[in-house]
Amino acid sequence: MIYTVLSLFPELIHAFFSLSILGKAVHQGMVGYRSVNIRDFAGDKHKTCDDAPYGGGPGMLMMAEPIGRALASLGICGKRAEPAAEEPQARVIYLSPSGRPLTQELAKELAAEPELILLCGRYEGMDQRIIDRYVDDEISIGDYVLSSGEAAALVLIDATYRLIEAVISPASLEEESFSGGLLEYPQYTRPEIYGNLKVPEVLLSGHHENIRRWRLRKRIEKTLALRPDLILQGEETGLFDRETRTIIAELRKSGGG
Ligand code: SAM
Repeated sequence: MIYTVLSLFPELIHAFFSLSILGKAVHQGMVGYRSVNIRDFAGDKHKTCDDAPYGGGPGMLMMAEPIGRALASLGICGKRAEPAAEEPQARVIYLSPSGRPLTQELAKELAAEPELILLCGRYEGMDQRIIDRYVDDEISIGDYVLSSGEAAALVLIDATYRLIEAVISPASLEEESFSGGLLEYPQYTRPEIYGNLKVPEVLLSGHHENIRRWRLRKRIEKTLALRPDLILQGEETGLFDRETRTIIAELRKSGGG
């Protein structure tokens, strides 16, 4: 997977790709990364990339031409242009509060792409013609407005790179929050007693089946308490196995959900 990030502030992105697990994945060649400074494609000596919106209104808008030229430098021709013979197999994403929500499901889908080109907005966003001509998906990281697309791009990168094969062990992803429609179970590490709080006995027992059952029950309890919408969704889509359905019913009966 290659991430290509188009931004007015590419230095915000660099550090992220050099540290921790992502840094290691880049080092080992599992993840590629390049950044493109949109300002390098401005058309005047002042490197202007924004202008006032037609029709008036507050704020400035990112101009179409520098972004279009930056995309052209990557071989991206746009939907209405004749596709170039060597056009890269890349999905062009504009991070935007108007986009479809980023979920774990969408993150999985994106992680399977060969290349993501991420357009980071600033100011009031960008000229609609860039979206119409080049963008395959508008993606939002939540129902709130950030001042920059860079922060949103980092969230999308973080949610997707860890799902790329071999970056993280599949076992670590198996029972994470949202897998199988449930949140993750509570976890503990040393010391065994912290203040007056003790690690649950079952986790010290070494009894694998009891630990598995305890963890499943805790996942369900937690999801019923914190995200009952996920339980309803799992029930509607037939996601849960018999054991999970039985525990949900028991917890509901006992007032635990
Ligand atoms: N005027 C725009 C609106 O009302 O929808 C908001 C523009 S925002 C101040 C500047 C940039 O931040 C956007 O172009 C987008 O790239 C990014 N951004 C803001 N909120 C976002 C969100 N929830 N998800 C993804 N990107 C977001």
